[in-house]
Amino acid sequence: MNLHLKSIKELRALLDGGDITAQELTRYYLDRIEALDPKLRAYITVNTAAMEQAERAQEKIKAGLAKPLTGIPLGLKDNICTKDLRTTCASKMLSDFIPAYSATVAEKLEEAGAIFLGKLNMDEFAMGATTTTSYFGNTMNPYDLERVPGGSSGGSAAAVAAGLCVAALGSDTGGSIRQPASFCGVTGLKPTYGRVSRYGLVAFASSLDQIGPIGKSARDCAILLDAISGKDSKDMTSKESAPVCEQMGQLIEGKVIGLPKEFFQEGMDQQVKDAVLSAAQRFQELGCIIKEVSLPSLDLMIPAYYLISSAEAASNLARYDGVRYGHRSQEGATFEQQRIAARNEGFGKEVKRRILLGNYALSGGYFEEYYKKACLIRRKIQKEYEAIFESCDCILIPTAPTAAYKFSEQREDPAALYLADIYTVGANIAGLPAVTTTCGYTKEWMPIGMSLVGKAFADGEILNMADAFERRFNYILNDFCL
Ligand code: GLN
Repeated sequence: MNLHLKSIKELRALLDGGDITAQELTRYYLDRIEALDPKLRAYITVNTAAMEQAERAQEKIKAGLAKPLTGIPLGLKDNICTKDLRTTCASKMLSDFIPAYSATVAEKLEEAGAIFLGKLNMDEFAMGATTTTSYFGNTMNPYDLERVPGGSSGGSAAAVAAGLCVAALGSDTGGSIRQPASFCGVTGLKPTYGRVSRYGLVAFASSLDQIGPIGKSARDCAILLDAISGKDSKDMTSKESAPVCEQMGQLIEGKVIGLPKEFFQEGMDQQVKDAVLSAAQRFQELGCIIKEVSLPSLDLMIPAYYLISSAEAASNLARYDGVRYGHRSQEGATFEQQRIAARNEGFGKEVKRRILLGNYALSGGYFEEYYKKACLIRRKIQKEYEAIFESCDCILIPTAPTAAYKFSEQREDPAALYLADIYTVGANIAGLPAVTTTCGYTKEWMPIGMSLVGKAFADGEILNMADAFERRFNYILNDFCL
């Protein structure tokens, strides 16, 4: 029945109509994982309690108590804490960490009756853009196994694209939901900062991190978003927000879409540029108004993002001392020596690089010169977005400068990789919602993603625009290589 190609709504109808049971659906996905995941390596841990969750979900369905996600099998990025289910952050440091509590988002999904198939691969501590810094080995792109799936939520995006879960949660600090979603040809949303509780998300950079959905379509993402949003007393930055599902299907005629000219200048693959500009034309066909706008500080975004995110990461990761948390070393006679050995053995190269950069930026004498300046630039960038939103409803940009590249083409120089985050970090710096969806393919048939960035808490509006595009131009996923 090709269940893995069905939307959440279609599966809901099959479950509620009694055509399939939650157990059958879960077994179907577990079988697919067993057969296909050895090729993809999207999962770090498969949840052995999934069938029990399915039984409980089926009881709710039978009793007529189903919610939109009851009985729907999902995957979670492995930096989202799940009680009694290993949460590794793809790091040796946490390779056998079994949390004693669940993240708020996991609790909410469980309450909604969703099923957790398992925990998905990622770059170590969500630092990276290729899922190759994982301690558990890299994930492959389902469109072409020789290519990167993107990162850091590469496992989540690859699993959704390959039909190894219906939808998934990822986290996004500087593009980690959107870039892998675009590389794997699926839809992903970084919510407005504060819409979704971060409680139980292993922190990377707390002022930038957000958990969000990755799905086969904007509509599937909307259903997940409504299930995980809301104020949480355990996260002081979280806020109540209006549901987004009811905004799906609204007319988008008359919406003003800004195209920031700086984003289309240099450094971008010609095929990506053509695909995004033709998407702009298609929005015009749907009745939208396209307007050229300007975000002059584009070139300051990467330095500001890497300074702020590394400074916060250095501080967040200080807790891994091998005593309270994480890998414990056998080396070292004193506490200090043991701590150093634990961190040296437990963290990979990229994580160490960020800690060094962050501590340097925060250290005496450099604080004013680097960290403080980055915060000032952050404010300037926020103001530039505000100015654009005075005359536009949203902004259309490419999600990444290229489509997914081959592992063999990956650059050694970290600076080259950092620069490729240029189009995604702005939404995190300014706390704005951004959705990516597929707008074309390269000549090698790799998906190309475009992003819509919206006003704060206009997550529903940009999801609706992505949905209108997907339904009109049919870029929703089909079955493919695997
Ligand atoms: N690629 C970016 C980085 O390495 C984004 C990471 C993220 O969003 N978690 O920092």
